[in-house]
Amino acid sequence: MDTGRRTLRIDLRRNRDRMVREQIEARGIHETSVLRAMRAVPRHLFVEEALIPQAYEDHPLPLGHGQTISQPYVVAWMTWLLDVAPDMKVLEIGTGSGYQAAVLAEMGARVYTVERIKPLLETAQRRLADLRYTQVRFKLDDGTLGWPEEAPFDRILVTAAGPVIPDPLVEQLADPGKMAIPVGPSKRGQTLMLLEKQNGRVTTRDMGGVMFVDLVGRHGW
Ligand code: SAH
Repeated sequence: MDTGRRTLRIDLRRNRDRMVREQIEARGIHETSVLRAMRAVPRHLFVEEALIPQAYEDHPLPLGHGQTISQPYVVAWMTWLLDVAPDMKVLEIGTGSGYQAAVLAEMGARVYTVERIKPLLETAQRRLADLRYTQVRFKLDDGTLGWPEEAPFDRILVTAAGPVIPDPLVEQLADPGKMAIPVGPSKRGQTLMLLEKQNGRVTTRDMGGVMFVDLVGRHGW
């Protein structure tokens, strides 16, 4: 056994436990299923090697192609807001590193994730297969169109921000259903919207300021 490697593994596990305690629980998220999933998914395997020492720090990280893996707290917060339960069908727009998809899969969801940048999608697909998250399905496409063949979805989670909530996503949300989506211009003024559909009615709530990369859609925005 290579002692160096073992020590690194123990350190990473310790960093991950500390991340959950200090960044997530300390900010008021106590839902056991979310905390358990955040403790279980090895976030350091979703970043490039040079960034491994920063994998459990309290900020987003670059993942190439001008994109970022969200700050751990934001992943936990969105997952918690959506009330994800085992066997739910969950659509994620913006696969990126695959980390958020792994957290959803760890919670027992059936995950459908859409990404527009092929190399990112392929890397994420490989990582999730290596980690045995077999209930995740992938699609290379413009996620503003959703995934009509697989609709309706109990939950929809969008991890990039556009100027509006795309209509196809609202249409593909189940009733009852919940969607979390950041809306607004990049780098400033975005808010996370929580949309709920119930008895044919759609309500939206503004959950506060966030910062995501651009949702690049075919709608010409
Ligand atoms: N959920 C990711 C974070 C991804 S960053 C993670 O856990 O790592 C946002 C991602 O959304 C980027 O990879 C970007 O390429 C993707 N994206 C932006 N617009 C998109 C669109 N219209 N359809 C699909 N993916 C899109």
